[in-house]
Amino acid sequence: MSYLFRDQSWVQLQEPLERGTLLILPVGTTEEHGPHLPVDTDARIAEAYGHGLARALLPEVPVLLLDTIRYGYSMKIMRQWPGTIVVRTRVFMDMIFDICRSLLEMGFSKLALLDCHGHHSGALNVVSRELCDACDRAVAILSPAALSRDEFNAIRRSPQGGAIHAGEWETSLLLHLSPEVVDLSRATDVDTMRYHSDFIAGDNFLGRQRVTWSTWYLQDSQTGVYGDPTQATAETGAKILEAAIANGARFLREFYAQG
Ligand SMILES: [Zn+2]
Repeated sequence: MSYLFRDQSWVQLQEPLERGTLLILPVGTTEEHGPHLPVDTDARIAEAYGHGLARALLPEVPVLLLDTIRYGYSMKIMRQWPGTIVVRTRVFMDMIFDICRSLLEMGFSKLALLDCHGHHSGALNVVSRELCDACDRAVAILSPAALSRDEFNAIRRSPQGGAIHAGEWETSLLLHLSPEVVDLSRATDVDTMRYHSDFIAGDNFLGRQRVTWSTWYLQDSQTGVYGDPTQATAETGAKILEAAIANGARFLREFYAQG
């Protein structure tokens, strides 16, 4: 039987409702990702992550995978290149809230969002609080970047500042998932993030971020990249995805077993 939510009739949804099936909602966006990656990079990663988690959990944990959210919010700085489609933060938050509330009111109680775009993190956290107040249910939010951080840092080849946007982490994942849409001949390291401090890590993956401050305004990106994609490999991408799935599935088994 299909694990895709969209394939079910209302009759077929009755059994998953009775079993307390876990729902997974991947959240990506459509945004420029440099001259070497497609604009659906975040959505593509979100969708692959959703499939990977569903396959890792089934049949032990019953799962239905929802369609990926493909549009969301990006800062203005990302709109200087073609390809970035922006949904205003409040519209985006209302849409995610309404989708989740529909599912919770339907009777599903275990819902996990996959946060696959950095500009969404705060918005999704607020939505999760609002859902607690509205529905008395706490949804989970998983980030494949956070859940693969240690494994990526152990094998990365780029320096600090090499993995923030369309850099080594994302380019490696796309080389693994969809090499036919990656044009490495256009990748350069000119937009590696140069600012680092004890409070702000050079990229998302060093686990040293102690204050919130967008450093994207400190240097003009020439190519729409903030990082170094030239060090990316499909092998790194495979290891990133494997780690994010293994760690995410470990958490979701706990999440499913509680309450
Ligand atoms: Zn991205």
